[in-house]
Formats: sequence, C-alpha cells, structure tokens
Amino acid sequence: MCRHLAYLGPPVTLAELLFDPPHSLVRQSWAPRDMRGGGTINADGFGVGWYPGEGEPVRYRRAQPIWSDPTIAQLAAVTRSAAVVAAVRSATVGMAVLDGAAAPFAEGRWLFSHNGVIRGWPDAVVPLAAGLPVRDLLTLDATTDSALLWALVRHRLRAGADPVEAVGRTVTDVAAAAPGSRLNLLLTDGHRVVASVAGHALSVRETSGSVLLASEPHDDDPGWRSVPEGHLVVATAGEVRIRPLPAPVGAPSRHATVDRTKGANR
Ligand code: GLN
Repeated sequence: MCRHLAYLGPPVTLAELLFDPPHSLVRQSWAPRDMRGGGTINADGFGVGWYPGEGEPVRYRRAQPIWSDPTIAQLAAVTRSAAVVAAVRSATVGMAVLDGAAAPFAEGRWLFSHNGVIRGWPDAVVPLAAGLPVRDLLTLDATTDSALLWALVRHRLRAGADPVEAVGRTVTDVAAAAPGSRLNLLLTDGHRVVASVAGHALSVRETSGSVLLASEPHDDDPGWRSVPEGHLVVATAGEVRIRPLPAPVGAPSRHATVDRTKGANR
C-alpha cells in the first residue's frame, strides 16, 4: 500500500525528504518495510506537492516508479519548501494507473493523500458517493478509491467544515460503509496537517520547529514515534496533537475527548 509523508518546518530541499535519508520515500518505493493489504512495492506512480511560499501549492505527479523518473531527481535537488506532501503508489488491483491517480490530490491550498483501500469498492460506497454533487463525480481525477475519498473530504471543506472534522468524519463514514477499509488520510493547507491512522502505520517526528509525518520512519532517529491505530494527528511546525478518531454516528463515544498533546504518548 502506498507510502506517504508530510513535512512542515524550515525550508528544505525536496531531496532531503525524498532521496537523502537512508530509508527515504524513494527507497520505500522499492523496499518498503511495512506493506499491508497485498502490495509489495510502490511502483505505480508518485507525486509531490510543495508550497513555493504563500499561495497555492505546485504538484508533480507521474504514473511511473519514482526511481525511473530523472526529472524528479533534478527538481528535488533544487526545489526548497517549508511545506511538502509526497507519496509513492501501489495501485489497488483493478484501479487505473494514471498520473491523476497518484497523490497528492489538490484544490486551492489543500493537498491530500490516501494510503489504503476501500473494501468492497465501488459498491460499498455508492450510497456515500450519491451524496456528492454529480459534477464532482464526473470530474474525479481518476476512478479510484483515493480520488473518491478526496472528493468526500473536499465536499466537507467546501461546506466550511474544519479540516479535522472533514478528515475524521470521512474516515468514520467510509469505515462504517466499507468495513475492513484502510483509511490513512493526509490533508494539509501548508500550515497544519491532519492525518488519520486507520489500518496502516504512521509515524511522527518532531524537531524544534518542524514536524514530519511518514508511513515509515526514514531513519533510525529515536525521535520517531508511532501513532496508535484509530487516531488522528493534528500537527503544525510547533505542535503535535493526537486524538481518537470520532465515533461512528449513533455509536457511543469510544474515548474521552481530551487531546493527548506532545509528549503524552511517546
Ligand atoms: N487504493 C489506492 C489506489 O489504488 C491507494 C493505494 C495504496 O495505498 N496502495 O490508488
């Protein structure tokens, strides 16, 4: 299953995030350590989104292995940013391999990624998709579960939902409609990242003034901590909060609603 990451902090080159670490995202594309749900490598595409400053992010997405594209290596060496999302893709069997199927998906300042699968695709989520405007369904980036998840999150954002609620509710709604799904979502506006941990691993590393979220730690730094299953991470460059995912509608609240802040669950 795909691997993704998000970085907020002082400007770094894309190469420092994608290529240089010993277990970098590029290495994770051909030698991931923690694949679940059937895939072995992440060779069906990749994407990087970065914020060149204030304003909308720039994306580069391709439907080929990241290691086989010389352009990304050149771009990464000279492109610096304070906010980056990147992903390498292992397409779920039956789903299209296209540039547009690779994360990050985007609108305005938002960048979005999904690591996982919707079980019972597409039938399980027909009722949820039916709640979207027809135009959104006709203009999906690709006919994949990840593109639909983005349309569901984006629909909530457009309606004014807070990003934490947009991600949290989308995960619980889809998990209820399609049990067994793996729904690690990642959403950022370049200042704050919201990420769910639902079926796949996610690790967080904070340093002074920066935060990095990644499906797999990219080095042996002891600062990495694993986020527990069933949680949401809400992070800025200065603060990381981890809280339980919202309970399904109609279900009793699973946990106290207090945030577990930095240091509480190392
Ligand atoms: N199911 C999604 C796709 O095919 C994401 C795949 C993944 O996480 N491996 O695009």
